[in-house]
Amino acid sequence: MSDNAISTVHYAGERLFFSRRLNVNQSQRARLLLHSDAIVPRPEIQLLRCMLLDIMRTQMWKFFAFVILVAMAVSLYAQQSTAKPEDTEVWHPEPKVVTPGATCGAPPSDAIILFGGKNLDEWVSAQNRSAPAKWIVANSVVTVNKAAGNIETKRTFRNYQFHMEWRIPENITGSGQLRGNSGLFLASTGPEDAGYELQVLDSYNNKTYVNGMAGSLYKQSIPLANPMRKPGEWQAYDAVWTAPVFNADGSLKSPAYATVFLNGVLVDNHFELKGETLYIGQPFYKKFDRAPIKLQAHDDPSPPISFRNIWVRELN
Ligand code: MG
Repeated sequence: MSDNAISTVHYAGERLFFSRRLNVNQSQRARLLLHSDAIVPRPEIQLLRCMLLDIMRTQMWKFFAFVILVAMAVSLYAQQSTAKPEDTEVWHPEPKVVTPGATCGAPPSDAIILFGGKNLDEWVSAQNRSAPAKWIVANSVVTVNKAAGNIETKRTFRNYQFHMEWRIPENITGSGQLRGNSGLFLASTGPEDAGYELQVLDSYNNKTYVNGMAGSLYKQSIPLANPMRKPGEWQAYDAVWTAPVFNADGSLKSPAYATVFLNGVLVDNHFELKGETLYIGQPFYKKFDRAPIKLQAHDDPSPPISFRNIWVRELN
């Protein structure tokens, strides 16, 4: 076979390939083969052209995508290179100046003192808000008067930071829920025990259901730790309360949250409440706006507990 013959065979093969892509029929393909020398300059050039066309048709989008990506990267780099530290600085509004307490737990300058050791002027009876709070103030502390019932603040609050110190008597008696039981109602929504209770209890070597021990949001949260001190020593609660928000029709818009530290140890971390804390039954929300803060006079027979240094900072 001559060189020319080989060339023709190669060319014929490519022409067949090319004609399939052009969708020509058998007779057209035969004519192309017959007159191939007249319509195509050289088979190698034609083959190369076919290959280039094929690559362009199938790979061109990748090329353009690459070009766009490169352009975006260059643009982003250009923006970053012109950014300044000042672009992300915020200067207003300035936080108000607050003078902190002289010691840990002492009220800061913008706190409302609810009990400073002298009187219960900020408190009323929870059963009868027109009656005074009749708990016992002596030696700069206030002690529960179980016969007088719960007491609550004259003022009402929505969102706030709260501090309170409390002491289980050294001679405490009883066990479980009947040992130094009281409570801090972060929002009092009615007389007696209506509202949202942060449990107060002697939980130092005193077993009970864990969602009812000190540090629990009663029957809802299990404290993250048990940092109780012995009876006779002062305990400290620091809490941040975010009140629930309701729609005009009484439905819940956003739930209540509580973050609580007991003796400086986190026991509730932005805990979402399911509603009011109930002794029996499932929690539910009931619409309210602002609410007093309430302290519980629990009717267990153990000796009454005491409180001191109670203050609140509104966060509205
Ligand atoms: Mg209680």
